[in-house]
Amino acid sequence: MRTPIVAGNWKMFKTIADAKQFADAVKEQKKVAGVEQVICAPFTALSALAEALQGTEIALGAQNMHFEEQGAFTGEISPLMLKEIGVRYVIIGHSERRQYFNETDESVNKKTKAALQHGLKPIVCVGESLEEREAGKTAEVVGTQTKAALSGVSVEQLADVVIAYEPIWAIGTGKSSTSADANETIAIIRSVIAEDFGQEAAAAVRIQYGGSVKPENIASYMAESEIDGALVGGASLTADSFIQLVQGAR
Ligand code: PEP
Repeated sequence: MRTPIVAGNWKMFKTIADAKQFADAVKEQKKVAGVEQVICAPFTALSALAEALQGTEIALGAQNMHFEEQGAFTGEISPLMLKEIGVRYVIIGHSERRQYFNETDESVNKKTKAALQHGLKPIVCVGESLEEREAGKTAEVVGTQTKAALSGVSVEQLADVVIAYEPIWAIGTGKSSTSADANETIAIIRSVIAEDFGQEAAAAVRIQYGGSVKPENIASYMAESEIDGALVGGASLTADSFIQLVQGAR
């Protein structure tokens, strides 16, 4: 049995004050059990949020990190720094980072391995562009990205990896993939993982769908056999909506 996981990606939204407000609003809602819940906040809000989320079911996540522990890398944040402030998850290789910040399959792989070495759980993003989809290349693209990201990861470490299948054309556009299409692609990702790690390990990996998921459509994704939760941008920004997403993932 794979425990569903709903992760909010706040992107470059929310000051510390906003983040605290979110945590206060969550505390007024009923706790939801049976679903792992994560908020991936901007670096500046993480420490405050670590404290503010105490007493809730929500774990703390970051949206990126460097693969080195320390060094002359101006503007970067290391896995050690994230661990120190109570971060448990880290998004790796989000398409916005691949697109705007030169993230490559190679850097995604280095970051994935570094996260695991430091006891952080990577949420590794893969997904095709609209052109790639229309050219019939979805399976090839997500297969290559998945294999590259997980190269050198051990079977034991794989248990701590979450994959997020996020078709780029569905992110922030309101154009979500159908649940059947998402399920089909996620099944392909699982079979690619099985080639390198074996059926049993692949069957245990949690794979989320991401791309315009909302409280109104999350249940349709969760009803699919291969989908284990969602990585959510816009709809994770209010406590009401985030808790509804978590409820919908049960
Ligand atoms: C995301 O940021 O990973 C995402 C899926 O965004 P949205 O839910 O807004 O499409």
